[in-house]
Amino acid sequence: MAAITMKNIVKRYGDGFPAVNDVSLDVRDGEFMILVGPSGCGKSTLLRMIVGLEDITSGEMLIGDRVVNKVAPRQRNLSMVFQNYALYPHLSVFENIAFPLRLAKTEGDEVRRRVNETAELLELTEHLDRKPANLSGGQRQRVAMGRAIVRQADAFLFDEPLSNLDAKLRGQMRTEISRLQRRLGVTTVYVTHDQTEAMTLGDRVAVLRKGVLQQVGSPRELYEEPVNLFVAGFIGSPSMNFLPASVTTDRSGDGVFLETPLGRFELRDARKAAAIGDRSVVLVGIRPDHFEDASLVGEDKQARGSLVRVRVDVTEWLGNELYAYVPYEAPEDLAARLRDLSRELDSDQLRTQAVVALDASSTIAPGREAELWIDTTRVHLFDPSTGDNLT
Ligand code: ATP
Repeated sequence: MAAITMKNIVKRYGDGFPAVNDVSLDVRDGEFMILVGPSGCGKSTLLRMIVGLEDITSGEMLIGDRVVNKVAPRQRNLSMVFQNYALYPHLSVFENIAFPLRLAKTEGDEVRRRVNETAELLELTEHLDRKPANLSGGQRQRVAMGRAIVRQADAFLFDEPLSNLDAKLRGQMRTEISRLQRRLGVTTVYVTHDQTEAMTLGDRVAVLRKGVLQQVGSPRELYEEPVNLFVAGFIGSPSMNFLPASVTTDRSGDGVFLETPLGRFELRDARKAAAIGDRSVVLVGIRPDHFEDASLVGEDKQARGSLVRVRVDVTEWLGNELYAYVPYEAPEDLAARLRDLSRELDSDQLRTQAVVALDASSTIAPGREAELWIDTTRVHLFDPSTGDNLT
C-alpha cells in the first residue's frame, strides 16, 4: 500500500484551457478518496495521470516516496477498474480474474488459490467457468473488481465503475465496494460525477470544477462547511437553496435582518451576522432540510430560528418526508446578478423556487399559505460576487 501525492499537477491538451489546473492533493495510505465534479471537470484526466495513462504537463506525482512522472504504467503497481469493465469476452471469469497474475508469471497453484479467494470475496465462485457475455451487469462489474484486487497493488483506482448499472444495483454495489475497501484497507481513488456516491463511499472527497480543486474534506465537512457556492450546490440532494438577500439592521443596531424573496427574517446568529461585514447584499444558502413546518416546531426550537410565511405551489409526499416547492421572484437587479452567477456555475442552482424538505407528518398543502421555520444557525451566507462562503 502507498500514499499518493499530487503536487501542483497541471494537464494541458494542446494549448487550450488546462483540463487539470494546479491540483495539489494528498491521498493517505489506506484512504478511500473520491474525486467528484460535473462532466469535463478533469477528474478522469487526474486519475489517468495517477495510473500513467496520461502524461503530466507540469507538477509532481508521487506514489509512496517515488516520483512516478516518467514511470511506465506497468511499473507503478496500481490496479484500475474502468467504467466499461474491459473484460476479455473470450476468457472465462476465472481467466479474466487470473489475467494480471498470468502476466506476472505467477505460479499455477498460487493463481488458483488467489483467484478462488477473490471469487469467494466477491461471491463469484459459482460463475468461474462462465464467459462475461453470460453474466449480469453487476456480476461483470464484480469480475472487473476481482481482476483489480487479485494482485497486491499499492492502490486501487476506479473510474466511474457503477455508471453502467441500474439504480438499484448501483446502490447494492456501492455498499459492496465500501465493505471491500474497508476489509482490504488499500489506498483507493474513485472517480464519480454522482454526489451520492461521493458522500456515501469516501473517507474524504475532493471536489473539482473546471480543472481546479475546490475543496477536500470528509462528506460531513463538505455538507456542513462548503467553501463556496459551487461546492454548496453540488453536494446534497435536493441541492441547497440560494436566496438573494438585502441586509438590514434594526434601529437599535442589534438585530441583523435578511430581506429574501421568501420573506424577511432575523439572522439569529451573531457570528454569521458579523461575517456579513458591510455588505448590503448576500446570497443566503439554506438546505431543504433546514426548513420545518412551523406548526411542528416547539417553542424552544422556534426561538433558535426564524419564521417566514410563504405560499406553497406543489408538494411531494415521499413517505419519510414531504417536499414543498415555494416559487419566488427575486427583485430585478438581484435577479440579473443571479443569472450571471448561474451561468458561471453552469447550473440551475440559483432557481426561482425554494425546495423545502419537511417532516412527513406536515399537513402543508399546495395553493395554501404556510408558515415555515428556518434554522438560522445552519444557513450559509455567500458573497454574491465571488461565491465564497462567508460563514
Ligand atoms: P466526464 O465525467 O465527462 O468523463 P471528467 O471530469 O472526467 O468528465 P475529463 O475526461 O478529465 O473530465 O476531461 C477534462 C477536460 O479535458 C474536458 O474539457 C475534456 O474535453 C478535455 N480532454 C480530455 N481528454 C482529452 C484529450 N485526449 N484531448 C483533448 N482534450 C481532452
